[in-house]
Amino acid sequence: MRAPVALLLAVAALAASGSAFAAGPSEGVLVFKTVRVAGVDGRLVSPAGSTQGSTGTAEECRDASFVLAGPRWKNFEDYHVNIGTAPNGLDRLRVLRDLLAAHEAWEAPFVTECRRHRISTSYRARFGGLTNRTASLVSTGRRDGVNAVAFQSLAGTVCDGAAACVVLDFEKGRIREADLAFERELTRYGFQDFWTTDDTTWFDETGGRWSISDTATHEFGHFAGLDHVDASPALTMYTFVHDGGQTLGLGDMLGMAALYGSRRDRDDDRDRDRGRDDD
Ligand SMILES: [Zn+2]
Repeated sequence: MRAPVALLLAVAALAASGSAFAAGPSEGVLVFKTVRVAGVDGRLVSPAGSTQGSTGTAEECRDASFVLAGPRWKNFEDYHVNIGTAPNGLDRLRVLRDLLAAHEAWEAPFVTECRRHRISTSYRARFGGLTNRTASLVSTGRRDGVNAVAFQSLAGTVCDGAAACVVLDFEKGRIREADLAFERELTRYGFQDFWTTDDTTWFDETGGRWSISDTATHEFGHFAGLDHVDASPALTMYTFVHDGGQTLGLGDMLGMAALYGSRRDRDDDRDRDRGRDDD
């Protein structure tokens, strides 16, 4: 969790197919790309006031910002991991563990240091087992009926240029399929970057380590239907993936509660729940 040089990377995101946003997103494809910015403009980005990571900081637990991408799941479907695609040199069981934990972080009880808030959600991360499929929405642009998580080449795809990418295919505001792909060969972007099962994400001028935990937690936020919060560096859904992203901040949790209701222990949030049961 320590963040020496810390963070940086980034993300850009989102592009609706055609005019999906014209009349409000009802059908189309959303692409969320996590890209590296360090070295591109020579600027390193680090979270405000954070030299030791953002875990449990007041900022993380005070910032209530969230942005919804639009579509969400109506029924929670299984997702499958193609662990055979994990980069050489990494312990596949640890990679799998990191991926599962990153998705489960979005379930209640959330993985967070912000214990003061009692926020819940009905969201469920349903791991359906391993698969040999890759992310079809990324590689071919077509649904294949499997919500896949895989390491693969993003070259020439809608995710080209990204280190990690989520593509959501949706209709009438409901996600039909979601795929998450990690670029298997990060060095092809010109930096000595590598995926790691360590908890620390860091970068410098020549390279860095992308913690699968930090990156995957951010990506699974997109998988669930969350968009970026551009001015909230302490939150997991901040535009740039950063060290400490594996623990959710207040806004991250509120976003999930807004998307999937909250099984609350309080009754002062009817406004937030109102409107979600419109199925
Ligand atoms: Zn993102």
